[in-house]
Amino acid sequence: MLFSKLFIPTMKEVPKEAEVISHKLMLRAGYIRRLASGIYTWLPIGLKSLKKVEQIIREEMNKKGAQEILMPVVQPKELWVESKRWERYGKELLRFIDRNDRELCLAPTHEEVVTDLVRREVRSYKEFPLNLYQIQTKFRDEIRPRFGVMRGREFSMKDAYSFDVDEPSAETSYMDMYDAYNNIFRRCGLRFRAVEADTGQIGGSFSHEFMVLADTGEDIIISCDTCGYAANLEKAEAGFVDIKKSTKKGNYRRVKTPRQKRVEEVASFLNVTHDKLLKTMIYRTDKNIIGVLVKGDREINETKLSNLLALDNLEFADAYTIEEVTGGPLGFSGPIGLKIPLYADRDVEYMEDFVIGGNEEDVHVVDVNIGDFEVEGFFDLKVVKDGDLCPKCKGTLKSTRGIEVGHIFKLGLKYSEAMNATFLDREGKERHMVMGCYGIGVGRTVASAIEQGYDENGIALPLSIAPFEVNVLPVNSSHAESMELADSIYKSLKDRRVDVVLDDRNERPGVKFKDCDLIGIPIRVTIGERNLKDGYVELKFRNEKDSQRIKKEDVIGRVMDYVEEHKSM
Ligand code: ATP
Ligand code: MG
Repeated sequence: MLFSKLFIPTMKEVPKEAEVISHKLMLRAGYIRRLASGIYTWLPIGLKSLKKVEQIIREEMNKKGAQEILMPVVQPKELWVESKRWERYGKELLRFIDRNDRELCLAPTHEEVVTDLVRREVRSYKEFPLNLYQIQTKFRDEIRPRFGVMRGREFSMKDAYSFDVDEPSAETSYMDMYDAYNNIFRRCGLRFRAVEADTGQIGGSFSHEFMVLADTGEDIIISCDTCGYAANLEKAEAGFVDIKKSTKKGNYRRVKTPRQKRVEEVASFLNVTHDKLLKTMIYRTDKNIIGVLVKGDREINETKLSNLLALDNLEFADAYTIEEVTGGPLGFSGPIGLKIPLYADRDVEYMEDFVIGGNEEDVHVVDVNIGDFEVEGFFDLKVVKDGDLCPKCKGTLKSTRGIEVGHIFKLGLKYSEAMNATFLDREGKERHMVMGCYGIGVGRTVASAIEQGYDENGIALPLSIAPFEVNVLPVNSSHAESMELADSIYKSLKDRRVDVVLDDRNERPGVKFKDCDLIGIPIRVTIGERNLKDGYVELKFRNEKDSQRIKKEDVIGRVMDYVEEHKSM
């Protein structure tokens, strides 16, 4: 490829909406351009990176025996009604009507279509296990598209779906994908971590998110400083030490706390620390009204609560309901005397002489102990934070930020039951297929790699996914001898299947160097008149500060060594 022929519209001033570094650099370096909110065009060099990530994904998926297909983006309503997601998906699902008044949607994911395909075409146990994948455009009408292609509305995803005859083989399929994902992200040169994620009511540990470690990440990863435990914030459990529980009871007194509702207000009014307060939160669920108790300085993890009680729906009760079940207004609820089921976080079990709401306007109760009221039980219900105990060992949990680039999930029978996807087993009995689904954000992977690979001069992607591997850069393109050598190096590298660009432009050297670094080409071979006179050229790696002067005969060997070492298979 000749640089002079390339369409690389670089940009000096990036728009203000570009908040994160990857978004800024992808615009500046001419990787992408915005068309509308969350909708982007991939320009030639951005697309080259994207295709390299796709290629790595394909190779690793194929190695595991997965087969590539391509499913439609436009899908009929009927399939989504079958899975009940037509009503449940919410506004991220973009729906529209065709000229015959048929209702359709743009696919945010493809479980419905793939399940429909397999239930029609696969009948016998002999045809399993089956893993079908595609690399396809998704559309999700995200409430807050941002960070460029990191959270777009239209984006490219690799999605795979596995079908198995039973649980054990579904688990093997899952582990295969776990393995493939580790290989994929390793080959993309990312610093990443697989963390446990919530599986909802399916339970078990068959959901992992692959997180690229980056401070700008929207996700919080909780990990142990001692053992290998890592989970996302939603899933993260806390460990507990058994200390002596208080046996006190009956010492409590009611006190006046005029207009003091929030934890901070009550704590400062009564001159106690936040953890001396007990919060009583009243929830309305799909089944009943419940109260949840948590220490004043902690928050309730609603995912854990929903899983514990197998809830489909959970929301804070309104002021009217609170008044009705507690007798007091919002902000003054407490467990003593309540007739609804109460669920307490495990921390509460070890509290002593604490403060609760008095179920009456402007009243709290002090010197309360757990013997003073009844609960259904003590459970792990809090949102974990830095410094909490690890649930698996005696270590301490810490939180870091990450970007979710991939997600693997055991679906079980969710879709095969809803859509009646069955097969005949060895005995000729009809059974539901056991499914799994596995996604990778392809564009998001490129963007996250840039979050990890950049410096003040621009993008510094790993060689395996950089738009070009080598830039051959003659300092003076009108110097015949330089151009001749540049051309021969360029051709030799091309013959060796190296992805090389020749900067043949009649530009000032400064401009050429700047562009090379901005775009993020890992290897630069610079041919200058003076060096050339002595038979030398300059070799510079994007991730090293200094360049090296090497004999022109050695350049191909040196470049090939580096490429081979960094291409990672
Ligand atoms: P998020 O929590 O970030 O919204 P998700 O849980 O909705 O992600 P999945 O449905 O599991 O994501 O999709 C699989 C993968 O697709 C994600 O791991 C992510 O890499 C990518 N992805 C999801 N939403 C977007 C988006 N709006 N833009 C770009 N990539 C996305
Ligand atoms: Mg999402």
